[in-house]
Amino acid sequence: MKNIAILGAGESGVGAALLAKAKGMVPFVSDKGEIKMPFRQELERNAIEFESGVHSDARILAADLIIKSPGIPDKALLVVAARAKGIPVISEIEFAGRYTNKKIVCVTGSNGKTTTTLWITHILKSAGKNVVEAGNIGQSLARLVIADEADIYVVELSSFQLDGMYDFKADISILLNITPDHLDRYDYEMQNYVDSKFRVIQNLTEQDWFIYNADDEIILKEIEKRNIKAQMAPFSLEKTEGMTAFVDNNNQININLKPKFIMSIHDLSLKGKHNVQNSMASGIATKLLDIRKENIRESLADFKNVEHRLEFVAKVNGIEFINDSKATNVNSAWFALESMSQPTVWIVGGVDKGNDYETLLPLVKDKVKAIVCLGVDNAKIIEAFSGVIEVIVEAQSAMEAVGLSYQLAKQNDVVLLSPACASFDLFESYEDRGKQFKAGVRAL
Ligand code: ADP
Repeated sequence: MKNIAILGAGESGVGAALLAKAKGMVPFVSDKGEIKMPFRQELERNAIEFESGVHSDARILAADLIIKSPGIPDKALLVVAARAKGIPVISEIEFAGRYTNKKIVCVTGSNGKTTTTLWITHILKSAGKNVVEAGNIGQSLARLVIADEADIYVVELSSFQLDGMYDFKADISILLNITPDHLDRYDYEMQNYVDSKFRVIQNLTEQDWFIYNADDEIILKEIEKRNIKAQMAPFSLEKTEGMTAFVDNNNQININLKPKFIMSIHDLSLKGKHNVQNSMASGIATKLLDIRKENIRESLADFKNVEHRLEFVAKVNGIEFINDSKATNVNSAWFALESMSQPTVWIVGGVDKGNDYETLLPLVKDKVKAIVCLGVDNAKIIEAFSGVIEVIVEAQSAMEAVGLSYQLAKQNDVVLLSPACASFDLFESYEDRGKQFKAGVRAL
């Protein structure tokens, strides 16, 4: 393997190029879009050849190996042509995995990946471990394994990254949940998406561990179909029997690994049932890595999440504002609504990904007093909820949505931005949406 073509010059592409170069290969980076500044400079500084705004098909199809950014679909013509020619097309994580023997914890799921990855990293760091997070957040694994200084990598994996993984092996794999998302990339076939998520356990051996959500019917059904070699560590909010982690009648999290771990869910730093699930997954993973239970308890109690995930913004005249802009699908919005304990003005909408709002109806009936639609096309949301919510209004900017919610809310109410949709109709990204929302609140 000498000539490596790398498609996409973001963090994963540039990381892969640096790793290839460090290992004596000849990388060529090709990005159909504009290569952003720090990456372009980095490629130049390291004398790595690249092209921007174009793919030179002939050169790429002469490579021995192609590393593809997760953003490029398998159906892209160039990828199809490469596979037809017998050139292996892999993801940066697959490539990076060839150059490290350190412990690897992989985290995937439709929701909760970032939170759980960072929670595990926090516990391990606080316990003095030499650990770093990688993958879908932070630095690419490829970049990190060049020096390979960490003892443990906690790797967040999206389904798109998993799709390009074949021989990569984790020591501990976590599957948080599987709910419909990104189906446009999977021929609108749920099973294709499920198969992609289950790649997280491929190559696990009897020594390795599979931590999974045993309340998730899709996961349970899939496990039944498979012959999984790894040791199984299920967690549940509902069941106790046979669970490695569960919540007992006194609202205590129990982790059944010696020595037994017990902690009240009220002491967790993050609220909501989904975060109880995330904490159980994190607790099991770190116990398996021999972290003392005192350290785990402390770090489950003092972890601060990153922005845009059920983030408290401010209280204005007794009205609480919460930014959950990262809720870009129905399931994450479900958990946000579920965790509301006061009457809620719900800001929802954006780019619909084939959403089915049916599952939200009971919660909306119970908790929501008014809906503010924040999207270019709100017809589907209005149709779904007009039977249960009297007041539904529309906004075309975050500022307007904040203003309308503020008028609709009373003292002790909550205004919750949890859109259940992607953001690209009115915003650059979910971060942009969350930031504009917060700016709107601060301007009240
Ligand atoms: P991901 O990295 O998978 O997108 P995040 O941790 O960034 O996950 O959270 C995305 C959204 O999903 C947020 O709105 C968050 O509150 C919600 N969420 C977090 N954990 C879970 C979970 N286990 N189940 C459902 N929703 C979750």
